[in-house]
Amino acid sequence: MKKSMSVVENYQQIREKVAAAATKAGRAPEEVHLLVVSKTWPAERLEPLIAVGHLAYGENRVQEAVEKAPLLPQGLEWHLIGHLQKNKARKALSVFQVFHSIDSKAIAQQIDRIAKEEHLYPRVYLQVNLGTEPQKHGFTPDDLRESMGDILTLPRLEILGLMAIPPMGSPEETRPYFRQLREFRDELQEAYDHPLPGLSMGMTSDFDVAIEEGSTIVRVGSAIFGARG
Ligand SMILES: *Cc1c(COP(=O)(O)O)cnc(C)c1O
Repeated sequence: MKKSMSVVENYQQIREKVAAAATKAGRAPEEVHLLVVSKTWPAERLEPLIAVGHLAYGENRVQEAVEKAPLLPQGLEWHLIGHLQKNKARKALSVFQVFHSIDSKAIAQQIDRIAKEEHLYPRVYLQVNLGTEPQKHGFTPDDLRESMGDILTLPRLEILGLMAIPPMGSPEETRPYFRQLREFRDELQEAYDHPLPGLSMGMTSDFDVAIEEGSTIVRVGSAIFGARG
């Protein structure tokens, strides 16, 4: 990305690329949402995007979002994309409406319990660890097969679908993981007879491949704001 381009120009270009990737894959461009990942950037960096009407922002740390959100207009949609510790669940629910990184049955239950106390209905993606990298967060497919029934009964959570962060690699190396996530979603949908329309997958380096494989929301940061320091 050229330095001479503004954040808004980068954003418009990514929107066009997202729409083009959807069209190329035979999908309607409206089926694929863009989550702008604003982690590490100060609130004022978001203002030009808010001015052109972009409302959905992703943050990976609860405390950072808690500090940033009050500096910006109300009515934005904050998405948590990083691992959540149980003791931060209440604070997280005070700022985030959408959770992409619910990675255990225990944290799902905790969010559900606190959401009830706070009269909230958070929307949730369940994070799956497809690379079976032990250091990464996420349900293994077997964990989730086992926990899904209980998670779907939690009354306060609207389970939208699945999320994954594939192991590092070229876009073509990540493609099989995106495909695997979609197929796993299809399997769970069928096994539990419950719609799971959402697939949160794809970032700056591979969102076009993710869209070809069925992504419904791509999480893009550095292609819009530049490299994080
Ligand atoms: C930082 C982050 C992104 C955005 O990554 P870019 O490469 O800057 O687009 C997407 N998803 C998650 C979970 C992240 O932590």
